[in-house]
Amino acid sequence: MRDQANRDSVSKRLEIDRLVVAKQVHGSDVVLIDTAPREPKVCDAMIADKADLPLTILTADCVPILLFDPKTRSIGVAHAGWRGSAAMIAVKTVRAMTKRFGAKPDDLIAGIGPSICDGCYHVGDEVITTWGKLDKEFRPALKSRRGAESKTRLQRRQKTSKEYFLHLQLANRLMLRSVGVNEKNIETISFCTYETTSLFSYRRDSGCGRFASVIALV
Ligand SMILES: [Zn+2]
Repeated sequence: MRDQANRDSVSKRLEIDRLVVAKQVHGSDVVLIDTAPREPKVCDAMIADKADLPLTILTADCVPILLFDPKTRSIGVAHAGWRGSAAMIAVKTVRAMTKRFGAKPDDLIAGIGPSICDGCYHVGDEVITTWGKLDKEFRPALKSRRGAESKTRLQRRQKTSKEYFLHLQLANRLMLRSVGVNEKNIETISFCTYETTSLFSYRRDSGCGRFASVIALV
């Protein structure tokens, strides 16, 4: 979303007064939202257990993660690009909900929203090196293939050398599972933002807007 007018239009349509939007910085800080902040908090994840606090994540290729615990009636959101994912923001958000609200990971319902897919998210040395330092269980999210074996135009550009692609949604699903979220409670919307022209994609159209993922207790 480009401006306040867009946000207000979303707020009106959802019949919620004001979206709680963070100033996202590709970090991994989780902030408790108790009352609607006047200024956006600098963070990439928020948690709350009060009604009428529509926690909102803005993305264009990064992964939006929504969490809900029906038992403690608490919610959480996270913005996970490669940096946030490598910093285990999904795990930190679940742990914050446990610590603050007593939410049990096994009770959580998780939503993983649209992001760039592993066919389109070609990554370079910094990502490869960082990912290599993570626990083994998360390594499957970083995939290598030879350009010639690849199915998309982007991947075929270099036909001989080994290319690396990061599966951000898989990475975050593995991380949610690692902290005790039940696989059957994780729903993924697997649209690729890069390939779906109705969604914003930073890689496709740099300087583009962002789309909002919102969760609220009512
Ligand atoms: Zn794709």
